[in-house]
Amino acid sequence: MIVGIDLDGTIVDYACLQPVVRVRPDLAEVLGAVGIEIAGRPVAVLSNQGGLPWGVLGVAREDGRPYPTPAYFLRRLGMAVQALESLGAVVEKVGICVYHPKAPQEAILRAAEEVEKGIEVGKIQWLITADPDYRKPRPGLLLWAGVAMYIGDDEIVDGGAAALASVPFIRVPRFL
Ligand SMILES: [Mg+2]
Repeated sequence: MIVGIDLDGTIVDYACLQPVVRVRPDLAEVLGAVGIEIAGRPVAVLSNQGGLPWGVLGVAREDGRPYPTPAYFLRRLGMAVQALESLGAVVEKVGICVYHPKAPQEAILRAAEEVEKGIEVGKIQWLITADPDYRKPRPGLLLWAGVAMYIGDDEIVDGGAAALASVPFIRVPRFL
């Protein structure tokens, strides 16, 4: 039974304070508290990355912080995968949706391309998509991975995707 897990605010810091990447230090305990024993479990990391099109355009957020670039995102993802594996989880799949409803299509496609280029081909099954149907709360990523449940920090986005994929949603406190 493969379990889906969100990335930002769930495994790594929601604030995305570049260039630092902060991995949730008590990940195993937080998951244990919601009844998930992570050791030995097949896992799919499934994440919206609609900020990446803005990152490739060099756009800043309203508060002045830059959006993540594909290179920075890949570092965050790599550290998250490493953290899961160090807890004994088996990361089988990674699904990333770079679509953003307001971003120019060209930037969305460039973000997808740059993420794909940076991926280390190994035993993980990857999906990097610009398809809006895969942006949570739509269920595309969860259906692709075939998860039996979904863990995330956002009731609307993660919980919504789980509901549409007809799997249980388990909420963890947001790691800022
Ligand atoms: Mg999140």
